Amino acid sequence: MHVVHPPKLSDAAAADHSPELLRTYQTWKGSNIFFLGGRFIFGPDVGSVFLSMFLIVAPVAVFCAFVARKLIDDFSHNLGVLILVVAIVFTCYVIILLLMTSGRDPGIIPRNAHPPQPETTDQGIEVGPGQTPQLRLPRVKEVVVNGMTVKVKYCDTCMLYRPPRCSHCSICDNCVERFDHHCPWVGQCIGRRNYRFFFMFVSSATLLCIYVFSFCWVYAIRIMHSENTSIWRALIKTPASIVLIIYTFLAVWFVGGLTIFHLYLISTNQSTYENFRYRYDRSENPYNRGIFGNFMEVFWTSIPPSKNNFRALVPREPKPPTRVSGGSFVNSDIQKVPSDVEMGSMKPIRKNEATGGDDGGAGGGRRASLGRSGSWDLQSEIASITGIGYSDRFSRGGSSGSLGGSVEVPVK
Ligand SMILES: [Zn+2]
Ligand SMILES: [Zn+2]
Repeated sequence: MHVVHPPKLSDAAAADHSPELLRTYQTWKGSNIFFLGGRFIFGPDVGSVFLSMFLIVAPVAVFCAFVARKLIDDFSHNLGVLILVVAIVFTCYVIILLLMTSGRDPGIIPRNAHPPQPETTDQGIEVGPGQTPQLRLPRVKEVVVNGMTVKVKYCDTCMLYRPPRCSHCSICDNCVERFDHHCPWVGQCIGRRNYRFFFMFVSSATLLCIYVFSFCWVYAIRIMHSENTSIWRALIKTPASIVLIIYTFLAVWFVGGLTIFHLYLISTNQSTYENFRYRYDRSENPYNRGIFGNFMEVFWTSIPPSKNNFRALVPREPKPPTRVSGGSFVNSDIQKVPSDVEMGSMKPIRKNEATGGDDGGAGGGRRASLGRSGSWDLQSEIASITGIGYSDRFSRGGSSGSLGGSVEVPVK
């Protein structure tokens, strides 16, 4: 985070003494929620972070109180204490990863205040004396990535051409670089700046599940040996272990399934969004650098600094003009109502949506391969793997106009 000058000026003081100045986060147009004066940024569904924390901490607390504590005296050389300490330290580590995923800028591209200057004029429009010619912004531009043509799309809400792999999250209402998906469990977009932490969180949570699961069995087996009884009778003597074994068994399908899915995505250098939307063949993915290169890209490259300084002082914005424009293609200063955003509800891809967009991904023909059935098939595959209805949503912004609408694909 940047230190803002003057650093000691509190937000209230900034507002009191200079009514024309506000912090960037106070004028933020996305639907994010900020904590500690803009030092931490969450998605609008930040409440789910606390639920996720509870779902991690509560079973570990039960494990420490009813299983690990009983095992302390069962092992020599303080190994029993180690079981308890590792559980606590590892849980703290998982929680820190969760907060590092959800409390940071996932890679938001700042909105433009004005649309970019169009490069071409529409020849078909007659311009009367004193009228401004109506300038058109092309909906889609083509850029070349590693020798392959990739289409990038104009975002009406952010008034910019999305870089390749960028997409507009309809829940947070921001364009996010290397958009993966919006995760309701961490209450944040997963993008370029937090994907690494997201993967580490999910994989560490998997290990934590396996750890708790294993030592519950160890405890039951020790009861079985000490009382010379069957494993089932031993289990009945430790109901906490039964609950934890069932809980971690169910949870590991979910977080473990996600870990394996993301290992596959990382190894092929796809985002979740691209996987469901484009389904690259191996040779068609312009970002694929080979397995080793793809893992290096996720885990051994420096995370770029945030493009946003949420605590910077900015002048209070004048009210936007209210004149009406004919269409979203027209280059005007009008603040677009984010009508391209569909919030909340989950719904299947409509056919024209599935094939109609160019949302910052690779071009043309590939798109057609993702039909309605394709998305839902994979979704149900993963749902069947995890056994849990997982509701991470993809959000595609874009325009609800002629060139596509929003797609929210409930996955996993
Ligand atoms: Zn956008
Ligand atoms: Zn989001």
